[in-house]
Amino acid sequence: MSRYFYISTMGCQMNEYDSDYLAQVLVNANYLPMDTPDNADIILINTCTVRAKAEQKALSLLGRMISLKRRKPDLVVGIAGCIAQQEGAHLIERFPELDLVLGTREIGNIEALLERLVSNREKIVATDIDLRPPSPICKDGYFRGRVKSYISIMEGCDNFCSYCIVPYVRGREVSRPPDEILRETQHLISQGVKEVTLLGQNVNSYVWRTGDTFNFPSLLRELSQLHGLARIRFTTSHPKDLSDDLISCFGELENLCPHIHLPLQAGSNKILDLMNRGYSREKYMELVLKLRQVRPDVAITSDVMVGFPQESHEDFELTLELIREIEFDSLYSFKYSDRKGTLAEKMVGKIPEAEKSSRLSQLQQLQKGITLKRNKRLEGRELEILVEGASKKGGQWTGRSTTNKIVNFTNNNCKLGEFVKVKIKRAFVNSLLGYI
Ligand code: SAM
Ligand code: SF4
Repeated sequence: MSRYFYISTMGCQMNEYDSDYLAQVLVNANYLPMDTPDNADIILINTCTVRAKAEQKALSLLGRMISLKRRKPDLVVGIAGCIAQQEGAHLIERFPELDLVLGTREIGNIEALLERLVSNREKIVATDIDLRPPSPICKDGYFRGRVKSYISIMEGCDNFCSYCIVPYVRGREVSRPPDEILRETQHLISQGVKEVTLLGQNVNSYVWRTGDTFNFPSLLRELSQLHGLARIRFTTSHPKDLSDDLISCFGELENLCPHIHLPLQAGSNKILDLMNRGYSREKYMELVLKLRQVRPDVAITSDVMVGFPQESHEDFELTLELIREIEFDSLYSFKYSDRKGTLAEKMVGKIPEAEKSSRLSQLQQLQKGITLKRNKRLEGRELEILVEGASKKGGQWTGRSTTNKIVNFTNNNCKLGEFVKVKIKRAFVNSLLGYI
């Protein structure tokens, strides 16, 4: 009889990558994937705790899966990811029916834990945070049919930005060996993948030492040589570690996409200091100018937070001013959210929720205009698009430009994974519309 699993993935790309690893192990153990939890034998929720809202969402989903288990006692329910790492055994106290708490660094142990979970019906809490990332699985089949994929090149973070929970729940920074990353990339290419995004909390500090130092630009140069790898992207890049060598890769490597996600967080030096970010607004601006000098068409996107403790109206104005000056292609913006155990949680001068909301909507309004203006410049231009599938709107295809813009277009005989030239007819805030 077939057995089924369902994985719900919340949060960042790193969680998506980890969920793919978990799914591959389950597929190799003869489980079949399902899109809904109702008839699954194993349910895993891969969680995020970067903001309070993400945590609430994950725990409410866990509550729903636990009620499913009350009706189906043979069901195995597990929680993975950042909440699992943070809360550990407390989760079993709170949800006694829960079978598995799988910390962020324990992903590689899932195969061994499966037997204990399913056959022995044990309850397991696995949260060792000092483990190294697992080797890639590289078995034929799982990635077939995908045109793009993530590859984690490192785990953890040592930066301790004062607001951030990541260093506590993902552990110390550790880079993966280059030969494993190359092997994984070659495997993905063999499965039909055309584009990879290299993942790390701060890819700029990737380093592998075996006598010589092999750093992130070395890795990019090596990967760019791989036959069949049409596009390389990476995220996230910390401004304090963005070297001239890495910037020069944008002018040098043909398959490195001209897009960088460079989180700014705030435009006031006082707030950047309180955040422990390690750069000033002037230094950030300098990086933007260098990037645009090396690659004039580079798209720059960013993360910005509003309402950090002690952020005055003047500080917020400085953020708006810098956003106007830089003109990001797009921006992820958030209200500061207290995270347990971080330095910022203990800071004085917290900003009222209503004020945070008002600043956020002001900032988003500003960015909307800038994004539209930048996208409008592409009207009439021809862009190379990697075809990713049918668009949500019937009769259209969708894909992304090298600069990571979503492009929808009409064409009768497109193929998934094909590169096509699309002429842009109309630009919107969130996408572009064109034809071949
Ligand atoms: N490592 C990446 C970096 O340094 O940019 C980002 C990791 S974090 C998962 C993604 C974004 O979430 C951050 O850039 C930040 O803007 C936001 N973030 C992190 N902690 C937050 C908090 N406590 N409240 C609100 N936003 C937060
Ligand atoms: Fe969090 Fe800062 Fe590390 Fe990014 S660099 S994960 S924001 S501590």
